[in-house]
Amino acid sequence: MLRCSFCGRRAVYHRRYAGVFLCDRCLIKSVERRFRRAINENKLILPGERVAVAVSGGKDSVACMHLLHDYCRGKRCELVAITIDEGIKGYRDESLPIARENAEMLGVEHHVVSFREAFGATLDEMVKVAAQRSTGLNPCTYCGVLRRSLLNQAARELGADRLATGHNLDDETQAIMLNYIRADLSRLYRLGPGYSPRQGFVPRIKPLREIPEKEVALFALLKGIKVHLAVCPYASGIHMEVRDFLNSLESNHPNSKFMILRMFDEIKPHLEAAVPGFEARGCESCGEPTSSTLCKSCELLQGLGLMRRRKNLIFVEPS
Ligand code: SF4
Ligand code: ZN
Ligand code: ZN
Repeated sequence: MLRCSFCGRRAVYHRRYAGVFLCDRCLIKSVERRFRRAINENKLILPGERVAVAVSGGKDSVACMHLLHDYCRGKRCELVAITIDEGIKGYRDESLPIARENAEMLGVEHHVVSFREAFGATLDEMVKVAAQRSTGLNPCTYCGVLRRSLLNQAARELGADRLATGHNLDDETQAIMLNYIRADLSRLYRLGPGYSPRQGFVPRIKPLREIPEKEVALFALLKGIKVHLAVCPYASGIHMEVRDFLNSLESNHPNSKFMILRMFDEIKPHLEAAVPGFEARGCESCGEPTSSTLCKSCELLQGLGLMRRRKNLIFVEPS
């Protein structure tokens, strides 16, 4: 029997990059510790703040909500959860009830915002129109841009000081590599534990950024947290290739993902001078903050013959 390197109990996980074995209790404690350290060292959340967490129902976002729930209790912070329903049949309709169930169990206020309500069409419908119009854009482009925009709007309307997402170490290193490959300096610059853009944007935070995906999954499993484990039917393309490449790199050379992250964090302060700053103004069509006349969401929607509706996303029922 393999034993935990810290307490001698039965090991459930081999942390190859550190050369140690961990039992269930030590793994849970380690994830909790790293989560708190990321928040404290980077001042991601200040006492008394209102934090919105994006919860899809998947393991990372649900684990993030549970960890934030514990953290916020001790810091007099308020936590509110937002789920974006993109409208992906057989996928989001299955993960959404899990997000809701977890929020209810924790007693966290939960809001669902749908693509259909905000844009007049589901992602499934948009993908069909995009194919008919030969836009050449893949589903993740629509999904990513539109979801980020709705999350920001919802968090802002809910009066959140921070918007937390469940990005883990694997997600962050994939994003770093992708932006290198695409030579996208502005997007690269936006990565990091926290990003506070311009007026109209709620500062985004990633408290799981230094925790490998496997450890987040094990944390959820060992804590008995109900999560949705399916893979999105649209997941494909270069993202998957970069993910596979990084996994094989990590398997042959443990600690590679952390090294990529550390190197990026070293470089990041020097990027500022190379990234042009700009003034945020209101999008001509929807009013959301943007640096151009039209925001990226409206640009994509117009290409599909759709329009973002100018309205509030969050309806608070009178008490
Ligand atoms: Fe959206 Fe692409 Fe993620 Fe699916 S894989 S949820 S389409 S970004
Ligand atoms: Zn142990
Ligand atoms: Zn717009």
